[in-house]
Amino acid sequence: MNIERVTLRHVRVPLVEPFKISNGQVEVKDGILVSVHSGGLVGCGEASPMAGSFYSEDTPESTWDELSTNLIPNLLKQREGTLDALCDVIAASPCNPFARAGVETALWDLEAQMKQVPLCALLGSLPRPVESGFAAGIYPTHKQLLNAIECHLKEGYKRIKIKIAPGWDVRPLRHVRSAFGDFPLMVDANCAYGREDIPHLEQLEDFFLEMIEQPLPRDDLEGHALLASKIMTPICLDESAKDLETVRKAISMNACSIVNIKIQRVGGLRAAKKIHDLCDEEGVPVWAGTMPELGIGGAQTLHLATLGNFQFPTDVQASGRWFVDDIITPLIEVDKGFITIPEGVGNCYALNEEAVRRFLIQETEHHP
Ligand code: MG
Repeated sequence: MNIERVTLRHVRVPLVEPFKISNGQVEVKDGILVSVHSGGLVGCGEASPMAGSFYSEDTPESTWDELSTNLIPNLLKQREGTLDALCDVIAASPCNPFARAGVETALWDLEAQMKQVPLCALLGSLPRPVESGFAAGIYPTHKQLLNAIECHLKEGYKRIKIKIAPGWDVRPLRHVRSAFGDFPLMVDANCAYGREDIPHLEQLEDFFLEMIEQPLPRDDLEGHALLASKIMTPICLDESAKDLETVRKAISMNACSIVNIKIQRVGGLRAAKKIHDLCDEEGVPVWAGTMPELGIGGAQTLHLATLGNFQFPTDVQASGRWFVDDIITPLIEVDKGFITIPEGVGNCYALNEEAVRRFLIQETEHHP
């Protein structure tokens, strides 16, 4: 491929309701759309850190700066090469993983369009309907949590995930279990607990959860291994699973038995696929998490989730579950708990240019 120019567009879409996790709350979704132009085609990616820097220290603003002052100029210096060679340039760049994911996934989309295949085919997979799970944030009351779950389960979601934090764990779980019986259920703590909380976390065994996602701090693999040795419930890593070597180490230490793979957290599709393949070799099932991204990032996560070792429902949900509107067409829809990727090439979902203009914060164009 030969890159002629790159456009960056920062969009901000209001959420249908505030999304609260253990360490912060957002009311809007920021995404940076990366469009790479080559030979009459446009590859599209999304850099999608969470606003407010509480999932990681990276923000939409810092990611915008890294893209425009560092990563895009670097890439335009190279300009020409195979997908793999250009991915090397991106991987070697000292930018945050969200910036790298935005550009790298745009190149994957471009390559798939050039080859006239869907993105999943380029990853070595075939299109298949992807199971979707409902993810609930922390709500002000148990009643609001139960109402949200009840409302969304009508759309057929295949499991319930609730965010937990100290003071919001055992009681909401008791309410959810008594309201929804033995429906597949998991929790995500986003690093909210410490090793001193292990005796408390042992109480979560009573709820027969599919998994406990990232209970302890991201750097505490030993703590996760300690917790895993004391409970039957599988431990899943998210924030900790930042790259291939860390995942390899975590598996060898028995710090997890499931891995959440996020394209954004690991800096793109190539790294995500390598982590998938490693986990597959090690017999560790994975599933596809989200930031949540807008539609372009969501679509790419769906393509990734068609790979064989994705064994649990994805966090990608219907566009309308999160956003007042989305920037893709068609919108992502859930039918009887499954998302079907439309027929097409590349991402298989196109940008809705009218919606992009409506939510646009800033735009820049970069030339070699
Ligand atoms: Mg998580």
